[in-house]
Amino acid sequence: MRVLIVEDDPQLGDALSAGLRQLGMATDWFRDGRQADEALSAAPYDAVVLDLGLPGRDGMQWLVRWRSRECRVPVLILTAQDAVERRIAGLDAGADDYLIKPVTIDELAARLRALLRRALGRAQPVWQHGELEYDPAARLARWQGRTLDLTGRELAVLEALMAQPNRVLSKTQLQEKLYGWTDELESNALEVHVHRLRRKIHPGIVRTVRGVGYALGSGQPGGASAP
Ligand code: CA
Repeated sequence: MRVLIVEDDPQLGDALSAGLRQLGMATDWFRDGRQADEALSAAPYDAVVLDLGLPGRDGMQWLVRWRSRECRVPVLILTAQDAVERRIAGLDAGADDYLIKPVTIDELAARLRALLRRALGRAQPVWQHGELEYDPAARLARWQGRTLDLTGRELAVLEALMAQPNRVLSKTQLQEKLYGWTDELESNALEVHVHRLRRKIHPGIVRTVRGVGYALGSGQPGGASAP
C-alpha cells in the first residue's frame, strides 16, 4: 500500500516514513499541506497520515478541503495528548482514525492496514484468493498452505493485485502502488517481479492483459495459465 505522510516535524516525519517503508509500504512524506495536496491529486494513495498542527493552513483545514472535493482516501490524524476536542473535530470532519503522539510504528501500520481493509470492504485480516493467501500483518503469502519465499516488492505487487482481484491494473497503476516519488524505478522492474511471482506461485497467478496490464489469475492449480 502507498501512504502519504504530512508531518512538519522533520524527525518524526522521517521516522514515520522510514518505519513504514521497512514494513513494506511505499511512502511519500511532505512537511506542508500544500505539497501534500498536490501529491494527493497526482497519485493513488491508500491512506494519508495527517498531522493537525502544520504551518500555514493546518491539517484540519486540508482535511475539510479534501472531503469537500469528494476525495475519499482514508485519513488518519495525528494529535497531541491533550487535544481531545481536535480529535473529535477531526473525526467529524471526515478523518477515519486518529493516533495520539508519541506514535509507535507498529500501531500506526496496524491501523493503516485496518483502514485499507475497510476501504476494500474486507472483514478478514488474511486475504484469500483461491488457494492463495496473503497476510498483510505478517507480511507473508501462502500457496496451497505453503509459505512462499517472496521479496518485499513481490509481496507489494501481490497485495496490489489481490486488493482488486477483478480488475486489470495498468503497469503505471501498479507502479504507483509500489513506489514513492523518491524511489528509483528500474524500467523493467515490474515485469521481473511478475515473472518471479509466476515462477514461485503458479504460471497462471498473474494474467497479462495485452495492451492493458496485469490482473490476478484464477489462483487455482490447473487454472488458466499465462499467455
Ligand atoms: Ca506538527
